[in-house]
Amino acid sequence: MIWYPYQQMKTMKTPYKIIDAQGVFLYTEDQKLIDSVSSWWSVIHGYKHPVLTEAIKAQADHFSHVMLGGLTHEPVQKLADKLAQWLPGDLDYCFFSDSGSVAVEVALKMALQYYVNQKDWKRTKVLSLTHAYHGDTFKAMEVGDDEDYHFILEAYGEKKDVIHIPTQISALEEAFSRYHEELNCMIVEPLLQGAGGMRMYDVSFLQRARQLCDEYGVLLIFDEVATGFGRTGNRFVSDLVQPDILVLGKALTGGYIGHAVTIANHRVYNGFYGDEPDKALMHGPTFMGNALACSVALKSIELFEQGDYLSKIARIEEITKREMAGLSHPQIREVRIMGGCVCVEVRGAASLQGFQQFAYERGVFSRPFLNYMYAMVPYVLNEDELVQVLTVMKEWFRQ
Ligand SMILES: *Cc1c(COP(=O)(O)O)cnc(C)c1O
Repeated sequence: MIWYPYQQMKTMKTPYKIIDAQGVFLYTEDQKLIDSVSSWWSVIHGYKHPVLTEAIKAQADHFSHVMLGGLTHEPVQKLADKLAQWLPGDLDYCFFSDSGSVAVEVALKMALQYYVNQKDWKRTKVLSLTHAYHGDTFKAMEVGDDEDYHFILEAYGEKKDVIHIPTQISALEEAFSRYHEELNCMIVEPLLQGAGGMRMYDVSFLQRARQLCDEYGVLLIFDEVATGFGRTGNRFVSDLVQPDILVLGKALTGGYIGHAVTIANHRVYNGFYGDEPDKALMHGPTFMGNALACSVALKSIELFEQGDYLSKIARIEEITKREMAGLSHPQIREVRIMGGCVCVEVRGAASLQGFQQFAYERGVFSRPFLNYMYAMVPYVLNEDELVQVLTVMKEWFRQ
């Protein structure tokens, strides 16, 4: 049987069974649903996109996968070239992996080994944010601050090598003055903390982080697994403030196949480059650079570029602000909107009980968690569809 994610299997309600998907819609036997979650924020162009589906079919006729150990191929070369050219500055060196969590592991490993390669053994600590989420693997959990993982603390005791701070410049400055000699990196979800509760913060925090990282030689990692490809209204937050290492996942393949990439700048790459074999990056996921994933990712990026997606996202934000204006209710703590993300934070999880079924009956798939009702829609949905999603969210508080 299937063991489902994040679920108490004993009390889990039967999941909706999807039999088809097209554009922004998921189909069950008896309902047509707008996917307001974009399958965990990844399906930015919608389902069954002809260009993306064709890219996979065409590649499958050649080969679906060959390993990158000792072999290479055109789809991975083209995607790496495209990313290097498309991403800001010298974020040029692409290390592929099969999921966002693994790509975060790779980034953290890079940051630590970067200093070990220079025989700097003191820099064992990572600075990260409270409410951070960076994935479900062990080191990613550790730099994260998800309450679901606090059993790790119970098992192992306080973390020694991770310092968590809130998104306040004063806390940032204090952490740097205290720990700068021991930090190898600072990792953040820039501007928008996703799974930690759709928390939004100002770019000035990132600008100050960049300055302090430069001042003290600490590497700055942006985990844009969720924020990349337009979700915040910026193409990448890295277009505003440039990190040393950038992590992309989720929407990388337009939501077609799991794939991710850790992209280093020249300085980081150089820290591994040389004649000594032990300075190499010792990592190599079996399915890294998968040919189907790379082919579809390349096409997904082309669609993003050619379709003027930043205007689509700006429009989504504008309509969302218009529709959500004035929404208030004793149960609502705050409504937050940024780019293609809207979150209604309530005062207690109980007030969202039953919302998923309520939305289902009104033609919207939603998956609230804890105190957060949110939508991260596919960018291709039209105004009526977006209004439908937002109306369902508002109606829940009016019944
Ligand atoms: C989803 C997510 C991850 C993990 O990606 P997976 O592909 O699920 O392993 C990491 N970081 C952020 C910010 C995410 O939103």
